[in-house]
Amino acid sequence: MSDVIKTDTIIIGGGIVGASAALFLRRRGVQVVLVDAAQCGSKASGVNYGGVRRQGRSLELLPLSQRAFELWAQLGQLIDIDGEYIRSGHLKLARSRDDFGALEIYRAQTRGFGMNLELLSGGALQKRFPWVGPSVYGASLCPEDGHANPRIVSPAFARAAHRAGAVIMENTRVVAASCSGNGFELLCDNGQRLQSAQLVNCAGAWGADVARLFGEDTPLLAIHPAMAVTEPLPVFIDVNIGIQGGGAYIRQVARGNCVVGGARGFAADPHYAKPGAEAITVIMQRLGELVPGLRHAQLIRSWSGYEGSFGDGKPVIGPSATTPGLFHAYGFCGEGFQTGPAVGEVLADFVTHGKTSIPMEPFSIQRFGR
Ligand SMILES: Cc1cc2nc3c(=O)[nH]c(=O)nc-3n(C[C@H](O)[C@H](O)[C@H](O)COP(=O)(O)OP(=O)(O)OC[C@H]3O[C@@H](n4cnc5c(N)ncnc54)[C@H](O)[C@@H]3O)c2cc1C
Repeated sequence: MSDVIKTDTIIIGGGIVGASAALFLRRRGVQVVLVDAAQCGSKASGVNYGGVRRQGRSLELLPLSQRAFELWAQLGQLIDIDGEYIRSGHLKLARSRDDFGALEIYRAQTRGFGMNLELLSGGALQKRFPWVGPSVYGASLCPEDGHANPRIVSPAFARAAHRAGAVIMENTRVVAASCSGNGFELLCDNGQRLQSAQLVNCAGAWGADVARLFGEDTPLLAIHPAMAVTEPLPVFIDVNIGIQGGGAYIRQVARGNCVVGGARGFAADPHYAKPGAEAITVIMQRLGELVPGLRHAQLIRSWSGYEGSFGDGKPVIGPSATTPGLFHAYGFCGEGFQTGPAVGEVLADFVTHGKTSIPMEPFSIQRFGR
């Protein structure tokens, strides 16, 4: 391949973040080429748990999460499918008085965000959610949080971007990139060369590799949440469940299968991770204590994935510190599926206006120095 493809904006990475950015940029009339080393939505964005919750997000992340909450309500208009998105509610369980106290503090701190958190304990909790085990001290319910099917939502963002006019190049890895007065020039592993005025790095757990091409070194680690799904069970869990302090989460879909997660798997190679039997056993033991109805459930499949973590609970979102015209959005850990549509919109703001109305300073790449 020798012809150079020229465009306004190249996006590296077709997960929910990059595909959403492509969609919002096309809606503003910007030419876009979206390049993914695999298939769009096949990495973290397609294999995650599917939690679409604001509850538990940090105060810094909540404005973005809140904007995403609004966009999830428009999912059908954005990507033409419902994505099995439901506002089931998100119930965060507390295993002790101290954990319940932490939920009380969180509710007080986040009152301005419209989450309407409702604290329940003792008989009130048992009455409302009779399937919760007696070892649970209390819980916090966020009535309008929910869950969705990542396997269909994330690729649908890329398809929607394509319908809106984005050029999508799958199975195409960007292996080299440079910036000169004429903009960006990228080389892909199939020999394809690409040129653009702006570049957006949405390479997920591999985003630090792309940033490094522009002299930006960020301490990104890869982590591998272990996930599994049970056989179809009679439907009895009507909310998305998490635990204060982490450790396990579960949601039941309309077909009756329970999707579970909460421990770590391991990397099988630099692009593929496995859950491991030990992690899955730990998850099922933890959940069996809190939700006794799960104790004898059979698992039919388990998996893991690659997500990035900087260890400070925050992704990188915003302009490059070294290279004008380059924007980053990578290193999302546990929040990227829910916030993804809003991150795409924010990236479109940066590319078209150089700024956005949602506070992004906490996520600046500059927090790591040059
Ligand atoms: C098992 C698991 C459970 C999770 N549960 C939740 C949850 O319940 N709720 C939630 O909000 N979040 C959850 N997350 C996190 C969420 O899935 C991610 O934060 C989010 O999907 C990140 O999206 P992304 O587009 O940044 O990355 P990805 O989906 O990983 O996409 C990045 C893309 O970049 C491509 N790429 C990388 N390098 C290159 C290159 N050099 N050239 C071209 N393409 C490249 C990759 O092929 C990939 O498709 C979970 C993650 C995992 C792994």
